Amino acid sequence: IPALQIRDLRKVYDNGVEALKGVSLDVAEGDFFALLGPNGAGKSTLIGIVSSLVNASSGSAHVFGVDIATQRSQAMRLLGLVPQELNFNMFETPRDILVNYAGFYGVPRADALKRADEELARAQLSDKARMMSRTLSGGMKRRLMIARALMTRPRLLILDEPTAGVDIEIRRGMWKLLRDINAAGTTVILTTHYLEEAETLCRNIAIIDKGRIVENTTMKNLLSKL
Ligand code: ADP
Ligand code: ADP
Repeated sequence: IPALQIRDLRKVYDNGVEALKGVSLDVAEGDFFALLGPNGAGKSTLIGIVSSLVNASSGSAHVFGVDIATQRSQAMRLLGLVPQELNFNMFETPRDILVNYAGFYGVPRADALKRADEELARAQLSDKARMMSRTLSGGMKRRLMIARALMTRPRLLILDEPTAGVDIEIRRGMWKLLRDINAAGTTVILTTHYLEEAETLCRNIAIIDKGRIVENTTMKNLLSKL
């Protein structure tokens, strides 16, 4: 079963903008997949539909075989989302942010505490666990966003432009973390408008432009054509 299967997905916003014009896509379990495209191509819309933040106009999406439209809560349990904007409480500690997030999703407290330690270690935030998050560096805050999404143990991690607007040092730290996560078995999908980022990280790639997939191939194959 693919981690993500999208068929003929369309989205027309209320203002008449056709953000997706019939998108079909398969992402295999274990893949590290890039959705590359310029601003306005439809990347956020696609991710929004898959993560149930946006309703599709037509078409379907399945996460590990679970229909996001008719089995929404089951599908949402399988995926973790890392939004582009930092949206955690800057006046809480990283540890509390992770534990509270897991609690919100029904993870028993003992498990949440254990997972928080694991995720803080993986994100290289262990020594910052009890500091106020406001005091973390930009890179640490970004890695905390990723660690938080992993607290529910999603099988599919989706990131919306994870490194937009961050400098190269921060980007490298995030890339390392994402590689570790993928190597541990989690399927990863990210959107980006940097080919370099897709090239560095991803095995397979789809290019989206004006609401249509214009290329869908292996990274290797794409690079051989450039
Ligand atoms: P990307 O993430 O690739 O930059 P988006 O999915 O954000 O692309 O946008 C695709 C198109 O849909 C753009 O033309 C954008 O202006 C439009 N759009 C996005 N969100 C909305 C919205 N909430 N209402 C109306 N139009 C939108
Ligand atoms: P948006 O996410 O709103 O579409 P961009 O991601 O294009 O905006 O740009 C966000 C910021 O990232 C800008 O301040 C830009 O200068 C910076 N930026 C864009 N490309 C790079 C790059 N290759 N390396 C470092 N910073 C970049």
